[in-house]
Amino acid sequence: MIDPKESYEAGLKLHGHKCPAMPMGLRVGAAAMNRLGVDRSADGQLVALVEIGEHHCATCFADGIQMVTGCTFGKGNIHRLGYGKWGLTLIDRGSGRAVRVVPLASAMQANKETTFFKEYREKGVPASRVPAEHVDPLVERVMNAPDEALLSIGEIHEREWKEPAHTFASFVCDLCGEMTVEAYGRLLGDKRVCMPCREKAVSG
Ligand SMILES: [Zn+2]
Ligand SMILES: [Zn+2]
Repeated sequence: MIDPKESYEAGLKLHGHKCPAMPMGLRVGAAAMNRLGVDRSADGQLVALVEIGEHHCATCFADGIQMVTGCTFGKGNIHRLGYGKWGLTLIDRGSGRAVRVVPLASAMQANKETTFFKEYREKGVPASRVPAEHVDPLVERVMNAPDEALLSIGEIHEREWKEPAHTFASFVCDLCGEMTVEAYGRLLGDKRVCMPCREKAVSG
């Protein structure tokens, strides 16, 4: 069993401030892993499809998902679906099984109806400047509530996920001298260059 509490300190360090959304990501990610019976993704064994969009509240959620599942931006096994929702579909590539877990609207709503949001976040105060007395109880609640008070955990379903193999081919840009992945190289006359160098050359 994955215990989301074991990832809290590391999650906080990665994320940078206390808020209820990163812990919610820990809870959702751990619940999906426990439903599937899988361990943290050391490599690309798991794929996380996160439904958040951009420029909205609680995208912090995704850092909790990254921390607990090991599906990370760096490994490329987390993808943003851009629905402006907080569902997570976690895919276990080995078994071809997946599960969707989503925080209950009631739990998200309860978080929003708090001083943390009403008096600070919605007025533009960065989360790191909210006094601990207003954020700690929220974190406590998210970390300690039973699954059924917080989450809707879906049924396991089949889901195949194919990825092209990672390429190791690269070259050095003729203009900037920086390492560039071969597939991203561009031709500029007789030079092989990176995308920004080509852009600069043709626009300027
Ligand atoms: Zn946050
Ligand atoms: Zn270049």
